[in-house]
Amino acid sequence: MTSDRTSDVGAPDPGADPAGDVDLDATLAPELSRSHEATGEQVPTRDLSGLAPPARPARRWTPKRVVITPAALDHPHGQRIVERVEGLGIEVERLTANRLTGVRGDDERQTYVRAKSTMAIVVSPPSRRRLQSIAPSADWRFDLAEGCPAHCQYCYLAGSLSGPPVTRVYADVDEILGGLADYVGAGTARRRPEEGTTFEASCYTDPLALDHLTGSWRRAVEFFGAWDDDVQLRWTTKYADVAPFTALPHRGRTRVRFSVNAPAVTTRMEGGTAPLEERIAALGTLARSGYPVGLTVAPIMPVPDWQSEYARLLDLVARAVDGVADLDLTAELITHRFTPGSKEVLLGWYPRTRLDMDESRRTTKRGKYGAVKHVYPKDVMSELRGWFEEQLAARLPACRVLYWT
Ligand code: SF4
Repeated sequence: MTSDRTSDVGAPDPGADPAGDVDLDATLAPELSRSHEATGEQVPTRDLSGLAPPARPARRWTPKRVVITPAALDHPHGQRIVERVEGLGIEVERLTANRLTGVRGDDERQTYVRAKSTMAIVVSPPSRRRLQSIAPSADWRFDLAEGCPAHCQYCYLAGSLSGPPVTRVYADVDEILGGLADYVGAGTARRRPEEGTTFEASCYTDPLALDHLTGSWRRAVEFFGAWDDDVQLRWTTKYADVAPFTALPHRGRTRVRFSVNAPAVTTRMEGGTAPLEERIAALGTLARSGYPVGLTVAPIMPVPDWQSEYARLLDLVARAVDGVADLDLTAELITHRFTPGSKEVLLGWYPRTRLDMDESRRTTKRGKYGAVKHVYPKDVMSELRGWFEEQLAARLPACRVLYWT
């Protein structure tokens, strides 16, 4: 990949041929080592100006079109997804090959809208079966799907797409889960030995945006619950549909984190997600069902009046977990950062965004291979960090901070 963003704009999509067909064997987000929050580094960009969807609260996602590849239909879980989707009254098209036609519209906007409302049931590409370390969040990441129906204005996924953003859900979930045993004890993060080997299952997607259609994360919870080893499943979500999870035999082996932020950020920048209050209520529900739970506070931004905005967030959480016996609550604190590439893509998507990406107010960091990243200056970072550490201790004393970045 190149760091010259302009040269990528208008380049052919690797995931779509000139006729507009989508290769369902190709991954949607080619960069494996990034998390789905705003931690993006160098990305291929596409000029999607004018596609900004309005911020609006979530309803259960109902894709307009669902397709399944022949290979996916051979997997029992592929068939289970078909039954689940058809049970919701949505027709499932049986494809004769792993290519999807009819996505390309008259213009880029139409193509985007068609792709974003399409779900493809596929077999995971081989590259997704080789797990990657994803410190500091977890020892390993694995994928049960790729793509997300929400529209967060800072989402790393927005800048990582190769081809129209058709959401892929994987039919070979049992094989994916079966392959995890090879990685136990071999993690590279291992910063939190009390949690065993940790597996993150929400990069490049949002589990609760999709589980009512796939049941894949329910299956993963049961798999980890039955797995007799020192392991933990983790995922983070901006949705709240937790009712199907409360009675699962999870045995405390799954930590569900809710991605939360200052109310001003969630209402203005997280289109299509569940309202903050619902996410926090869902956290309380899972905590009462014995799950370890967590807050992914990301991306933290010093928005106007940020102290009272974030205080309101912490107080909502405190109320939701009040009285929960044996509460196991963690916090992961991730500040906003951006790259030249992610800024260009996100401004193309959301030209009127209030997301502050002014380089003059940031410090530039250089990562591997000289990649540029704009982070908050040291004094802003220490003010934010100091405030969060102090206020979490005061308002949510049971909460353990796992990391700050
Ligand atoms: S919910 Fe979806 S759009 Fe929002 S940050 Fe997560 S993956 Fe991106």
